[in-house]
Amino acid sequence: MRVVPIILCTAGVFVPCAVGQQELPWPTPSKSKRTVLAASVIFDGKGRVMHNTRIVTENSKIVAIDPKVGPVDYDLRGLTVLPGWIDAHVHITWSFGVDGKNAGMNRTTQEAAYQSASNAWLTLLAGFTTVQSVGSPADLPLRDAIAQGRLPGPRLLTAVQGLQGRSEQTGTPDEIRAYVQRQKQAGADLIKIFASGGMFEGEMALSLEQLNAACDEAKRQGLRTLVHAYRDAVRAATLAGCTQIEHGLGASGDDLKLMVEKGTYFDPQDGLLIDTFLRFKDRYLGTPLFNEQTFVGLEKALPAHSELMRRAVKIAGLKIVFGTDAVAGAHGRNAEEFIHRVQDGMAPVDAMVSANSRAAEALGMGEQLGTIAPGFQADIIALEGDPFKDITAVRRVAFVMKGGLVYVYTGRRPKPL
Ligand SMILES: [Zn+2]
Repeated sequence: MRVVPIILCTAGVFVPCAVGQQELPWPTPSKSKRTVLAASVIFDGKGRVMHNTRIVTENSKIVAIDPKVGPVDYDLRGLTVLPGWIDAHVHITWSFGVDGKNAGMNRTTQEAAYQSASNAWLTLLAGFTTVQSVGSPADLPLRDAIAQGRLPGPRLLTAVQGLQGRSEQTGTPDEIRAYVQRQKQAGADLIKIFASGGMFEGEMALSLEQLNAACDEAKRQGLRTLVHAYRDAVRAATLAGCTQIEHGLGASGDDLKLMVEKGTYFDPQDGLLIDTFLRFKDRYLGTPLFNEQTFVGLEKALPAHSELMRRAVKIAGLKIVFGTDAVAGAHGRNAEEFIHRVQDGMAPVDAMVSANSRAAEALGMGEQLGTIAPGFQADIIALEGDPFKDITAVRRVAFVMKGGLVYVYTGRRPKPL
């Protein structure tokens, strides 16, 4: 069962929500407000566990970890406390339409806007305090509304409109550079590149020269590149110096080792995405790209994804990042992907690191997010249970703080310690 959230009751100190009250609180932490969290187990997001101490946040940041500080505002003892998770690959605006059918991610209707806001809220409730949406122009107003504190949701980064590889028709290297520049002007936080056909078939859709142009120009513009790549495109995108490879079915052992050599981040999905398509088959069937044949392929692709994950986790030094490719039906269930990954051989501690400090590093925000330590953003969650012993604890999110603001607290009132 989902926890009952206590929504934005105050800027840090526990005060019960006054239902029906006229003045709703805005998610702006009061300037001097200090919040103290008591915890018995804190995973720092990098691999270290701290016991029986307290986290102090002020405004949007963690300012101290000190067992002696008080008074305690939130008692998280008995829970596993860790940094808010990062999902490096979602499609936050991808929803079902009023007819219940898959409606994609590019709608601009009022109803679609509400659904996007709902997807963001569900994702935050599930413990994800930062997500990277890759991407749709519809992401932009949602990103800005969340950043300005007008809507609750995870911190949102967007690729706006991805570069769709269409072989020579994609354009010359100079035209590709101009495309990257236009995305930056449109407000992109990163560049998404489609370098190959889909999951089942299709060759490279961009030449090495075109990939070089895209990833090099992004670097010049100070932006990262996420590359949708299967088969040969995996190696090409790695050679082109792109930041992160998505999906990766068909990657050989040598391709994975090349990623280690080049320091490329790798985000292979394992379970949640296909499980979502299969679970909501009636809603996807008959919409663009989804026919009966697609579902036959998806059933077959499920073990292929597991096999890739099982191989990938054995490659020493491979920087696997947590990304779900969340589509309609998956928002708020992002953490299911952890369970699939651990079932396929990823150590639970590595699964957490991949969505904490390593994901933050992959976003170029390793000094701000993904770690519980002074100076970092106060993005803190707590789980009922121990995910290192039972990974299904990731389903039981009992506390969510983002940027120093508490969005979920299951009702443990502070008691004298
Ligand atoms: Zn995707």
